[in-house]
Amino acid sequence: MVKDLKKTRVRIKKIFSREVLDSRGNPTVEVAINGCHAVVPSGASAGKHEALELRDGGKRFDGKGVLRAVSNVNTLIRRRVLGKSFSQDEFDAALIKLDGTKNKKRLGANAMLGASIAFSRAAAAQSDAPLRLFYASLFGSSGTRMPTPAANLINGGAHAGNALSIQEFMVLPVRAKTFEDATLAICETRLALRKLLFNKYGGRALNVGDEGGFAPPCSQQEEPLDLLVAAAEESGWAKEIALGIDAAASQFYNEKKKSYAFGGETLSRGELAAYYARLAARYPLLYFEDPFEEEAFDDFAALAGRLKGKMIAGDDLCVTNPSRVALAVKRRACNSVIIKANQIGTITETLAACKIAREAGWKLVVSHRSGETEDAFIADFAVGIDAEFIKLGAPCRGERTAKYNQLLRIESHLK
Ligand code: PGA
Ligand code: ZN
Repeated sequence: MVKDLKKTRVRIKKIFSREVLDSRGNPTVEVAINGCHAVVPSGASAGKHEALELRDGGKRFDGKGVLRAVSNVNTLIRRRVLGKSFSQDEFDAALIKLDGTKNKKRLGANAMLGASIAFSRAAAAQSDAPLRLFYASLFGSSGTRMPTPAANLINGGAHAGNALSIQEFMVLPVRAKTFEDATLAICETRLALRKLLFNKYGGRALNVGDEGGFAPPCSQQEEPLDLLVAAAEESGWAKEIALGIDAAASQFYNEKKKSYAFGGETLSRGELAAYYARLAARYPLLYFEDPFEEEAFDDFAALAGRLKGKMIAGDDLCVTNPSRVALAVKRRACNSVIIKANQIGTITETLAACKIAREAGWKLVVSHRSGETEDAFIADFAVGIDAEFIKLGAPCRGERTAKYNQLLRIESHLK
């Protein structure tokens, strides 16, 4: 059945877009095709090579309105696709051609991705198949493997109002046997962390950042790692859990000075690399995302060589763009890649990026954005392509738990 799903052709009987809200209260694009919906997420620490997210500018919603993107779906895309039949790759190819620009600035990657995901849902629904199996058929995967969650329990950088330079401090229950157990490990570690934070800082430390993790007023840059180790020990899950960071280093890179403004100091690329090596020696860290700025292919590669056995993941470096991923593979910059469909704008191109990384033996880390919605697309997509990992934030706030809950649902169906 999985093979046949790939050939599913959908006749576009109805396509409609509207402006709705994301988890930050910013407008975003929703698209419905033949009654199947998709809502597009949005990043805060977006990479400069990402496809363009079309925003209206002006006064309305402080410039963040998406009425132009919505109108592009309701006019240009609608005119092109209504009444015609497509497979997923034909549909995406039609959008790419209609857009005709390198960075999707005509239609907007937000308009295009909403249509592309809604199309997937319409195709799966037409075949009465789960969405993950539709993606498994497109990708040639099993669609039955549960990813390990990477849960961002402490937020810094652009996602919080504290002094932490590193954007995300994650726990990865790599030795949990099931997704359900992994979720329990994350939730119990989070509860232990909550108590530790309350005892240390009082209630103000329990405020959460954009991805549902705590945003405590730590002054030491390593303090979140000490707190996570203590919380994992307290909860009894320390053996199952590895730690990870997303430095999102482009956010604290000074292009002019070619240096990093890190925790009140100025670090050269060499000093930053040495800092990561010290962290790796001191903490049970497995995962390093965007340790350097988004053009630093060589620094990524040197770190990957230096920290053997650790995951070095490219996010802003690769931006889910097949040609950037191919370049990163060629330069041996990473061994893992972040996959965010809205960085590139269509399902077909997202799968192409995944394919290049997988063929290179890299691990696939499907990811949410800091601005999310109740749409749990990434859960189905990650299982669909047999992704090794999924980044889904803390199990706190509805737009994050929507992904946990969909994965719990999928795992129970698989059983
Ligand atoms: P963003 O952050 O969604 O704000 O870009 C997530 C990340 O950098 O991984
Ligand atoms: Zn990132």
